Amino acid sequence: MQHPDPFSSNELWVLHLIHAYELSEASDFDADETAYTAGKAVSGTNVAYVFSETIRDRAAFAGSAGFPKTVDENTLKLRTVLHEAGHLMGLVHGTTPWDGIMNLNSQFETWPAADAKFTLKDFGIIQSISKPTGI
Ligand SMILES: [Zn+2]
Repeated sequence: MQHPDPFSSNELWVLHLIHAYELSEASDFDADETAYTAGKAVSGTNVAYVFSETIRDRAAFAGSAGFPKTVDENTLKLRTVLHEAGHLMGLVHGTTPWDGIMNLNSQFETWPAADAKFTLKDFGIIQSISKPTGI
């Protein structure tokens, strides 16, 4: 795929993290959703969206699906930005406590703040790519 951003090169990486309101009614966490989307990396690009209204709702309410309590709104927004940036640099979701910010459980208050970051394995993957093009 042709890279859409002429300013991003192998020498200068550019990530576009766009502040947006919400993705769709089905995933905005306004009602009784059982899923929600706080951020979304656009596949094959260096563009991701961070949905502030959904993050606000998610931080304020547990929801009918009984999700665990999240970190506070500002922390959730910061973690979402870092998580989506990870996707733009080729990282995928992890499922273990050693998967850092790419584990979806990193949004919950039970996740240690010290582990809400990229891991050494993540940095290895990031260093192996020529420039961010998403997953
Ligand atoms: Zn993700």
